[in-house]
Amino acid sequence: MSELVSLTIDGREIQAVEGTSILRAALANDIYIPHLCDHEDLTSVGICRVCLVEIEGRRPTVSCMTPVEEGMVVHTSSEELDQVRKVNMELLVLHHDYDCQNCAKNSKCQLQELTRYVGIDEDRINAMRQPELDIPLDDSNVYYLRDLNKCVLCGICVRTCEEIQGDECIDFTFRGIETRIGVLGDKPIAESTCVTCGECVTRCPVGALVPRHAIEPTYEIDTICPFCGCGCGVSVGARGGKVVSSIAVPDSPASGGSLCVKGRFGLGFVSSPDRLTTPLIRKDGELVEASWEEAISLIAEKFGQYKDGQFATIASAKCTVEDNYAIQKFTRAVMGTNNIDHCARL
Ligand code: SF4
Ligand code: SF4
Ligand code: SF4
Ligand code: SF4
Repeated sequence: MSELVSLTIDGREIQAVEGTSILRAALANDIYIPHLCDHEDLTSVGICRVCLVEIEGRRPTVSCMTPVEEGMVVHTSSEELDQVRKVNMELLVLHHDYDCQNCAKNSKCQLQELTRYVGIDEDRINAMRQPELDIPLDDSNVYYLRDLNKCVLCGICVRTCEEIQGDECIDFTFRGIETRIGVLGDKPIAESTCVTCGECVTRCPVGALVPRHAIEPTYEIDTICPFCGCGCGVSVGARGGKVVSSIAVPDSPASGGSLCVKGRFGLGFVSSPDRLTTPLIRKDGELVEASWEEAISLIAEKFGQYKDGQFATIASAKCTVEDNYAIQKFTRAVMGTNNIDHCARL
């Protein structure tokens, strides 16, 4: 059983499970420590160096990599700390392609929030500013864009792909000032093993990874992804009567905050003009619209013509368990055959 340790942060005594980092212990107790590369779903790595704190009796240290200890006394702010943190922030943004007005992440960007909070010195930045990297936009993926000119090299996408998706298709590539996130052979992401789950896109703190068709919904409703029997929790956003977004429900018991490519990017079909909304019956070789009554009567008539062994059903993973139960019951009890299968077995 994990032990609780007591420590003091900014004069407040808190408790945290042994092994928890100072950063996560502080955040869990509503004590804010600026940070960029840490993410609650992922291993901490201490890349950005923004989450510095002072521990009495020690030098400033990165709080995401330092576990809590019994009796520890931590300060999240001081003149020296704020100055070092500011310099670390300035180093992060030296190459950054600041074009917030045209960035899909504008007003939801952690870099924007942090630079405002830490209060970087624009004049100093401009004096030190390095030329922007001018890396071509990678628009090879059907569902998301990669603009590495906006990347802050936090590594969240790399860890997400490895630790959550288990794909490992991206990593840090090149060296020094040329360092960037890339795939084997520096190819476009579409030529990698990326399965477009979008897990990295949702976690990227800046505008480097963004959905291709990002439209802000006016309202969102939590529901279940209709694509397969996993039943992942999805929060579907709509605007103007159309589905414009879908994000994972973080505490879904079925999916724990993850989605695959279909649940994350594939729900636009709901508003597709190509959807069939009325039954079609083939007449004289042409499919023509029919009423539901007409269609169901025709189906019943045709079903009545089948003889032993001529009838079979294939049930669908998109149906509910109850629907699939009804399908097999109908097949066996009404049509009198055990010829039934399910698409999930194919
Ligand atoms: S990533 Fe953030 S800071 Fe950079 S341009 Fe986009 S909104 Fe602005
Ligand atoms: S693409 Fe986004 S998540 Fe990946 S390293 Fe760059 S800023 Fe971080
Ligand atoms: S979309 Fe999924 S598979 Fe592709 S790079 Fe991101 S996490 Fe990896
Ligand atoms: S998100 Fe993917 S795995 Fe989850 S229910 Fe939808 S299709 Fe199935």
